[in-house]
This record gives sequence, C-alpha cells and structure tokens, in this order.
Amino acid sequence: MIYIDKNKVKRPANLDSKITKDRRKEIIKANKFLKGAKYNKRYKTADVKKTLEKLYNNKCAYCETNIERWDVEHFRPKSLYPWLAYSWDNLLLACPTCNGHKSNHFETINEKAKLETHDLEIIHNLSEKYNKKENNKFVHPELEKNIESKIVFDQDGVISSEDERIQYTIKICKLDRDKLNIERKKQVLDNYNKYVMNAYLMFENDDKNFKKAVKAINKTFIEQANLNENNFIAFRKFAVKNFII
Ligand SMILES: [Zn+2]
Repeated sequence: MIYIDKNKVKRPANLDSKITKDRRKEIIKANKFLKGAKYNKRYKTADVKKTLEKLYNNKCAYCETNIERWDVEHFRPKSLYPWLAYSWDNLLLACPTCNGHKSNHFETINEKAKLETHDLEIIHNLSEKYNKKENNKFVHPELEKNIESKIVFDQDGVISSEDERIQYTIKICKLDRDKLNIERKKQVLDNYNKYVMNAYLMFENDDKNFKKAVKAINKTFIEQANLNENNFIAFRKFAVKNFII
C-alpha cells in the first residue's frame, strides 16, 4: 500500500450525470443497492475506469500488483453503504484477489454512519467525515499520507505493521499471502542480489570496479523505487532503505 493523491485527477463526469443521480435516488429510496446492470454500470463507466487506471498506475490499491484485469472497488461496501455506490472518494482500483478477500468486510469501532440530508451535497467527499465518525478499522489509501512509514517488510518480502488499522487491512485483504511475499522478494531483492553476484563474478579480483558496479546497481534500484508505475513501491522503498544501502 502507498498513499494515493486523488487531487491529481479530475472527478469523472459520468459520476455527476443526470442518469447517475437518478440511479442514486432510486437506491436511496429503496434503502439498498439495487440489482441489475443499470445500477452496476454507473460506477464503472469508461471515464471512471480510465481515471482510476491513470491515478493508480494500473496497480491494486492494496497489494500494489500490476494488473491487467481489475475491479472498481468500493472502499465502503455498497451493500452496507448503498448511497456511496457512485461516490468518487469511495471508488478505488483493486485486483480481484484483494477485492474478493475484502468482500463486505468493514469493521468500525463506533456505530456505522447513516445517510444525513446534508451528506447528499458532499456525496463525493464523505470518506474523511465518516472515517472520523466511525473510527473504521480499514485503511483508506487516499487518506493516509504516512501509510508507507507504518509498513514494515522482512527480507522474505513478508509485510507487517505495528499500526492496528494497517494490521487489520493486511489481515482482511491477506496482503501477507505467500504468492505476494514470494513475488516481492523475487522481483526486488532476488533481482538485486543477482545483479550484485554478476558484478562480483565479473570483477572478482578488481575491488575498485566491483564497488563502482555495485554503486551503479544501487542507483538503478533507487530510481526503480521512485517510479510510481512500478509494482510494490512500498516494498522497493523499504528494501532500498533497509536492505540495499
Ligand atoms: Zn490486490
């Protein structure tokens, strides 16, 4: 997980179209998210998808995997908060695995928010207000500026945190699943070690050039960790700071 700044993009126009507003009204009237394509289509219109793809660099909001197939994920599940089904700050990009694990999980310490009349005027910006009110356990990657500093990895790519809310998010989305740990290690640390080993073999009796080669490898890995289109940025940054330099 990394912090995502949604202010970088414009809210997709379809979320404010008359047709979306009408569907929202019907949902609010029914007091539940309604079944059928005409309701599902509204939160995944082409402009919503395109904007999320750009904002998230085609990566899952939770596991940071680069994905071809992804879902428009509702941070607050639409089954529990039907009026937020088309709210821009409630729509994230997630891989089918994380989305599947998260499902309708959304534990809160305080009582869950209910729709108030005033909320309709700020329907696209309710996450912050609701987060404060509910003290929800799940982390919203667009509202946690310091998220990366609270995540820890070991040399096997296993993720953990001292922060209770991040712990809960790791647990629910299974961000410590074997496949992810292995991929993080393989694509970052194993790859780094391979380059260093090659340099060692190439400059076995030439300490000066070996050091020079490692310096160049380090530089490349630092650059890679700052390229947001790369997967596993949180791990790359952590690895550079703690295992590489
Ligand atoms: Zn994921």
